[in-house]
Amino acid sequence: MSCIFCKIIRGEIPSSKVYEDELVFAFDDIEPQARVHALVVPKRHIENLNDMTDQGLWFAMLKASQQVAKLKGIDQTGYRTVINCGPDGTQIVPHLHLHVMGGQLLDSKMG
Ligand code: 5GP
Ligand code: ZN
Repeated sequence: MSCIFCKIIRGEIPSSKVYEDELVFAFDDIEPQARVHALVVPKRHIENLNDMTDQGLWFAMLKASQQVAKLKGIDQTGYRTVINCGPDGTQIVPHLHLHVMGGQLLDSKMG
């Protein structure tokens, strides 16, 4: 498997881990777009949101996002979660990931 996020999950590529449970792994984005910017990924390879059909895994990703926000100390100040899907959604890495961004007032513009 040449997927970069699968390699991060397996520890073959180093990352700054924020949170982990049996279904989900979270780590700091290498090119943060905010003071806090982490990525929450399913441990099982799923290419993008179109392929997400597992309710339990979906809930685990959202719960992990809450945990990331708490661990980073931004749960009360607020944060943004984003999933980019496909070319127009500017998804670069083809392994489903949820961005958690905060630690500052974010730009309110979308797109
Ligand atoms: P996308 O545009 O696919 O939604 O976001 C991919 C994200 O993955 C980008 O924010 C990018 O900075 C991050 N990223 C890409 N390669 C690596 C890597 O090797 N390590 C880490 N920690 N983040 C990465
Ligand atoms: Zn993968």
